[in-house]
Amino acid sequence: MHSGYGVKPGEHVPGEPMHQYLEDYAKIHGLSDRMTLNTQVAAIERLHNEDAGGAIWRLSCRSRRYRKGTATPYSINLVMATRKLILATGVTNKPNQPKISGETEFGAPIVHSAGLGREATRLLQDSTIKRVAVLGGGKSAYDAVYMFASAGKEVKWIIRRSGRGTNWVLPAHTKLLGFEFWRAVFLPIAAQRSTTDRSSRNY
Ligand SMILES: Cc1cc2nc3c(=O)[nH]c(=O)nc-3n(C[C@H](O)[C@H](O)[C@H](O)COP(=O)(O)OP(=O)(O)OC[C@H]3O[C@@H](n4cnc5c(N)ncnc54)[C@H](O)[C@@H]3O)c2cc1C
Repeated sequence: MHSGYGVKPGEHVPGEPMHQYLEDYAKIHGLSDRMTLNTQVAAIERLHNEDAGGAIWRLSCRSRRYRKGTATPYSINLVMATRKLILATGVTNKPNQPKISGETEFGAPIVHSAGLGREATRLLQDSTIKRVAVLGGGKSAYDAVYMFASAGKEVKWIIRRSGRGTNWVLPAHTKLLGFEFWRAVFLPIAAQRSTTDRSSRNY
């Protein structure tokens, strides 16, 4: 199955080949038919069911569907039952939007990074938006700063003093003291060193 998808060894994998790889993987391993996409689990109950051999989990779900040939969504309720349940709902998929005093009177768009994918084209093309302030020092902030600055907007990057500054962002290969490192090898070593350094200091 692995044809490289046009990505050379050592290169970053862009979104399109990654998406194609995941689709092919699901198809080849017969996973597609076992997936219910666009579906939110609204409630989980534990029930006792003798016929099913003991306890089962009952999932009440809301599923978004599309009529054939239309882009207009509609919702249906789904109920699923299973004896084994694995929760893999993540920790970073809910936007954490701080309340900023005066935000309702501010008049300019305030966008959380989770909405940047949808809003980016509009914001970048709006010539009345000349300056952008980015709050935060993590990966999403880095992406936003890079996106707006490379589109010619003036960017103010605001990072709180109590934060740990910006994340390290390195290309797949990085040069250090004249040597070239493959990021996957270098980062774990650096992380190990930084943990050791921190634990050897008394904070
Ligand atoms: C901006 C950003 C950039 C990142 N960049 C990188 C990177 O370059 N490299 C890297 O290795 N990691 C990166 N990470 C981290 C990486 O994305 C996460 O560590 C990884 O996605 C965690 O995977 P997960 O499956 O645990 O959770 P998630 O990817 O968060 O998946 C959880 C899924 O559960 C679904 N879900 C939640 N609640 C429900 C519900 N009630 N019903 C149904 N479904 C539900 C969500 O919709 C989501 O699809 C990045 C994270 C962010 C936010």
